[in-house]
Amino acid sequence: MSVDLRNRAVEPDFAVAAGDLPSAETVEASLMPHDLEASWSRIRSRLQAEVGDVEYRTWLRQIRLGQAEGDEITLLLPTRFLRDWVRSQYGDRLSALWHGEVAQIRRVELQLGTAPSTLTEPDPAVVLPEAGLHGKLQSRVQGQAAPAGILAAEPQASATRADLAAPLDPRLSFDSFVVGKPNEFAHACARRVAERPSSPGFNPLFLYGGVGLGKTHLMHAIGLELARGGRVSVAYMSAEKFMYRFIAAIRSQSTMEFKEQLRSVDVLMIDDLQFLIGKDNTQEEFFHTFNALVDAGKQIVVSADKSPSDLSGLEDRLRTRLGCGMVADLHATTFELRISILEAKASASGVAVPPKVLEFLAHKITSNVRELEGALNRMIAHANLFGRSVTLEATQEVLHDILKAHDRRVTIEEIQRKVAEHWNIRLTDMSSARRARAVARPRQVAMFLAKQLTSRSLPEIGRKFGNRDHTTVMHAVSRVTELMQCDTAFAEDVELLRRMLES
Ligand code: ADP
Ligand code: MG
Repeated sequence: MSVDLRNRAVEPDFAVAAGDLPSAETVEASLMPHDLEASWSRIRSRLQAEVGDVEYRTWLRQIRLGQAEGDEITLLLPTRFLRDWVRSQYGDRLSALWHGEVAQIRRVELQLGTAPSTLTEPDPAVVLPEAGLHGKLQSRVQGQAAPAGILAAEPQASATRADLAAPLDPRLSFDSFVVGKPNEFAHACARRVAERPSSPGFNPLFLYGGVGLGKTHLMHAIGLELARGGRVSVAYMSAEKFMYRFIAAIRSQSTMEFKEQLRSVDVLMIDDLQFLIGKDNTQEEFFHTFNALVDAGKQIVVSADKSPSDLSGLEDRLRTRLGCGMVADLHATTFELRISILEAKASASGVAVPPKVLEFLAHKITSNVRELEGALNRMIAHANLFGRSVTLEATQEVLHDILKAHDRRVTIEEIQRKVAEHWNIRLTDMSSARRARAVARPRQVAMFLAKQLTSRSLPEIGRKFGNRDHTTVMHAVSRVTELMQCDTAFAEDVELLRRMLES
């Protein structure tokens, strides 16, 4: 399926607000806003199918529908660069598609601008108490929910409905989650909850770990799996959203409704609970909701950046209850997991990314899967855009800024220590005058790695190796490069050392 449901779910597809509708004098009767919206929606889908997901996301997703006037329709883009690019690359196609949809439209005007602010806000799934949470969430997942513009234009009565849950992103499924040592336990727990919610021992499920390690992904995966079955209503939201909803409910004197809605779900998932630290009233409310749901045999899934016991500032009784079910942590990724994730994402993109590039990225970007993914996506977009294949050189060039930020400062001393350990020689031999091959070769490798992994100059490196001359370092670099080409075992050794030093 090529339609990008996430964008549908979190961004309003239609940006025509009632106040901005062209007046009856300027537009013929056939150009009703909902017609335009429907046309625009079809055009977007067509475009996406034509240009592919990545290109669509990179350039076209941000187009907003502006006004229609006479035979012209205005589309809005947020930056000059995007506008110019879209105009030059897709201008004609957009005109043709529009004309095909609405015969009267002959021109597409691309302008700088954004959609009216009320409609550019991400619009969470709206929960209708009478329809229950599930129906809405389901329809969101399937991308059939009423567009934001229409929801916003609904009569006053609906404005008081609490929009409780956020949409689930169909891309964050179990299928797209790559399992490795660091996350296998959390993944197994998540699977288990998705298969049999509310089983004793797994309620609540508390997922914790650093930024970008997959907590949100696993929560969406659980939600998607459960919502797919059709019988379970799932509400997923960030703790922050929970707080805003709660405060809004207090303001509009609808706390009862808020509580009832929350308590009517089968599965409640609150992401990034650490946000509630210091927000005492909201914590209290969450505590009560939590108890009511657990007592009623409903499943709770919570994520946070730390374990319950380390979340200082959380009320004790809440902390205790959070720790009562299953607590699972997502560990920092390993090189192997990063490679697997990159491989999966590259193969899903359909762009050939050489293993060398994947390894390079997995070496360089170690802390956060989101950034790793972002880097890969940039390379893929670049390849699609310029029709060039992804190479190591292009990667270094395109990702220059990201890579610089991730340059881990490996010191020459660290390199010397690791290399000496690896070949079992004394650290002092790194700077000694001994020339026996058993010590000279490792020394050359250390110099080679110092050149590769640090920004030190050749003379600086030479000095750290017993005041050797920079030509000695140069010679070491070319000798090691040569040897790596003809001796695979040696090349693997050097690669391994590099990996260890970089991770
Ligand atoms: P967190 O909520 O822990 O900060 P996310 O779940 O938002 O992290 O993950 C960040 C990004 O990395 C998401 O795009 C997610 O899909 C991706 N990601 C993280 N871990 C994995 C994994 N094991 N397999 C596939 N993608 C992953
Ligand atoms: Mg998250």
